Amino acid sequence: MDIEEFFRDYSTWKMQGNRGGRDPFLMKLKNFSYCHFEPNPNFNLSNRAVSLVQKIPQNNVAIFWDLDNKPPKSFPPYEAAVRLKRAAAEFGAVRYTVAYANRHAFSYVPPEVREKRKDRKALNQLENKGIIKRVEPYVCRVCGRNFYTNDKLVNHFKQIHEREQMKRLNQIESARGKRRVNLVAKFSMKMEKYKNASRDVLTPKVGYGLVDELKRAGFWVRTVSDKPQAADIALRNHMVDMMDRRRVECVVLVSDDSDFVEVLKEARLRCFNTVVVGDSNDGALKRTADAAFSWQEIMMGKAKKEAVSVVGRWKDRDVLKRLEWTYNPERDRKLYGLDNEFDVESWDSEIEGFFRGR
Ligand SMILES: [Zn+2]
Repeated sequence: MDIEEFFRDYSTWKMQGNRGGRDPFLMKLKNFSYCHFEPNPNFNLSNRAVSLVQKIPQNNVAIFWDLDNKPPKSFPPYEAAVRLKRAAAEFGAVRYTVAYANRHAFSYVPPEVREKRKDRKALNQLENKGIIKRVEPYVCRVCGRNFYTNDKLVNHFKQIHEREQMKRLNQIESARGKRRVNLVAKFSMKMEKYKNASRDVLTPKVGYGLVDELKRAGFWVRTVSDKPQAADIALRNHMVDMMDRRRVECVVLVSDDSDFVEVLKEARLRCFNTVVVGDSNDGALKRTADAAFSWQEIMMGKAKKEAVSVVGRWKDRDVLKRLEWTYNPERDRKLYGLDNEFDVESWDSEIEGFFRGR
């Protein structure tokens, strides 16, 4: 018997007016594995059968990205972040996107960029010595001037355009109120042009724009001190806090660090849905989570297919969770008057009497 069949029978049985007492479905229910939850004291039993059908479980997702351990290796950070969010959205509504790292993580430079820089340097030397000559000149994308070596372009760019940019930024910085707004409006085109051009000419020495790129992708990025484990601890605390407050139903953890196994176990115990993204093959984290993906799978959009079946499993578990709540012999007896001695009104007046008598 599958869960849907079970559930159909159960609803019919309830709607036929059967109630309380020895619930023949209890035994069947025990055949399924389910989560243990505190019974919800507020729920209304008579509405359960109906609400079980109608209520689609809400699944809010939080992404926790351990950047220290896991900058995407060969993928541009912005793209990786966007794909990650897209994959997480398959599991529910992505409400929180959080990334933690120690400061040094932001000096991270992707390996292929490091390679390119080395090549560029070698090429520059050859150009400067006149050993190789470029057919097409380098064009300054701000003012349009031509240069025959890359070094000359870079020098020009720094001396002219970088200075102009600094001047504009300082002007804006020192202005207040309406004047500031006007300056921003006045400079916005030029500053945008500079930004776009500088991306090709100047390579950032620090950070390779990782923070900016992730922020651009909508992540909330936190840097913590460079003490060992600082980022881990901050990330873990944030996860636990969010679980305590039941802000989400699904936790997506991006990490290879097996130090997170315990917090993932706790998440599962507390019936949160768990997903891990990482490249480590020993996979202690991945074994602990409900679902796991490599970066490759995220980038290829492969998470989508598996997400469907995982979400299906979660839904079954959710239905069972709520079915378990519905069965409470004690409460059934009270609600359906099988236990005649219990009378809410007389109980109320008894309490009132007690207080008046004091
Ligand atoms: Zn120029």
